[in-house]
Amino acid sequence: ELESTVSITVVGASGDLAKKKIFPALFALFYEDCIPKHFTIFGYARTRLTDEEMRNMISKTLACRIDKRANCSDKMEQFLQRCFYHSGEYGLEENFSELDRKLKEQEGSMQCLAQIVGRLANRLFYLSIPPNIFVDVVRCASRSASSPTGWTRVIVEKPFGRDSQSSAELTQSLKQYLTEDQIFRIDHYLGKELVENLSVLRFSNLVFEPLWSRQFIRNVQLIFSEDFGTEGRGGYFDNYGIIRDIMQNHLLQILALFAMETPVSLAAEDIRNEKVKVLRSMRVLQLDDVVVGQYKGHTKGGRSYPAYVDDPTVPKGSLTPTFAAAALFIDNARWDGVPFLMKAGKALHTGRAEIRVQFRHVPGNLYKRNFGSDLDKATNELVIRVQPDEAIYLKINNKVPGLNMRLDRSNLNLLYAARYPIEIPDAYERLLMDAIEGERRLFIRSDELDAAWAIFTPVLKELEEKRIAPELYPYGSRGPVGAYYLAAKHNVRWGDLSSDNNS
Ligand code: NAP
Repeated sequence: ELESTVSITVVGASGDLAKKKIFPALFALFYEDCIPKHFTIFGYARTRLTDEEMRNMISKTLACRIDKRANCSDKMEQFLQRCFYHSGEYGLEENFSELDRKLKEQEGSMQCLAQIVGRLANRLFYLSIPPNIFVDVVRCASRSASSPTGWTRVIVEKPFGRDSQSSAELTQSLKQYLTEDQIFRIDHYLGKELVENLSVLRFSNLVFEPLWSRQFIRNVQLIFSEDFGTEGRGGYFDNYGIIRDIMQNHLLQILALFAMETPVSLAAEDIRNEKVKVLRSMRVLQLDDVVVGQYKGHTKGGRSYPAYVDDPTVPKGSLTPTFAAAALFIDNARWDGVPFLMKAGKALHTGRAEIRVQFRHVPGNLYKRNFGSDLDKATNELVIRVQPDEAIYLKINNKVPGLNMRLDRSNLNLLYAARYPIEIPDAYERLLMDAIEGERRLFIRSDELDAAWAIFTPVLKELEEKRIAPELYPYGSRGPVGAYYLAAKHNVRWGDLSSDNNS
């Protein structure tokens, strides 16, 4: 097969995400030989930079994969030589025509380098910019800088609208210039190792899938927490809040992969069809199944931590939730009546993302006496820790060695760092590689996005219209008490890190 060239244009190259994630991921792919041989990278933004200045800017963020101290300056140099910059406005087609000329120049020289003629010149645009300029950029890029010979694809970062209507409008606007096949909606949680592993765990082990239903699972918990607040970056967040920022996308995506039926195959459309099906089977979230919170200032150990509203980028009196808990239900045969509890928050006592599966009681448990009145303590729990310290562990009951019959809760523990002493690739690496290869499995299709918004839009509207005040919780705490009442209402007790023993 003929080799092609690929040009990757990072739009918003001067921004935080580009520097923190995208350029390092591109370098990691280059380092691992996972990017096509003939590639060029362009940074595009309004900030005026020369090629050399951009290379300087990104070289500070690149790290060697295998051993961070290893000297990979040769590789870095080779990579940087393939990086260029073009400064322009986001809504001016002529600026994109200039970019197009530069792209052609590079594509030509790459072809010359490889001594090939007339090869496909593919183009990928990564929109790492605020959402209000998505459509401008897509219009200009598609009209003035799309590939005349190969494919043109666009990676879009969240937020994909604020609700069903604005999301549908965004999709419609993008589709004026792009086909669905060209749009790669990224949810970087889908590129995380343990989220990808969910399918492997379920569908390639006999011991899990038969238990994966209302018959054996009592509840499922999807938990995300950060141990820091917005810290001066609350401007963007305040317009969205934690439900839109974390739940409607990251946690819901995990839920869909967790709960979907077995797909026909591993092909992208088969998987995405199952995800849409399970999302469409979900009940629309009700206000009385939601608790919202916002962190307040707190002094601990002589140090004081600011309230959310102390962030100078947050409007005074903001009611935006920095914490939310929600109880969701899937009205299908497999999951009828099983609560799926979500909890997401900033400025909490710990930072982690995990899935907790609490199993039902053992019927007629012979060892009931050993657990006193609290049978909940005796149920098995499977924990899939997405971050940090990736791990999968199953809490089981075990006899403490000795002459008496004492039971203990122990973990069957798969700690990734111990089992796989390698660096786990960043989520952005996998997703970028997939977009280049045209693998759509881990990107969100538009009907999936519609189904996801349909679950959350009514409650988001109600929270705003009724100006529901969030329950305040101290910075660094476990969050509002309301989350515990919500769980109790559904007979659930939040799984707790501190009771996880040897995790
Ligand atoms: P950012 O730094 O605020 O913006 C990226 C670039 O966009 C800026 O450097 C700026 O470049 C340009 N820009 C154009 N109009 C702008 C405006 N009105 N205000 C500020 N910048 C503007 O954003 P980011 O943190 O890199 O994130 C990029 C996108 O990814 C956003 O859509 C964000 O929601 C999403 N996202 C970010 C993260 C993260 O970790 N940061 C995570 C998930 C999703 P010039 O001034 O040079 O043109």
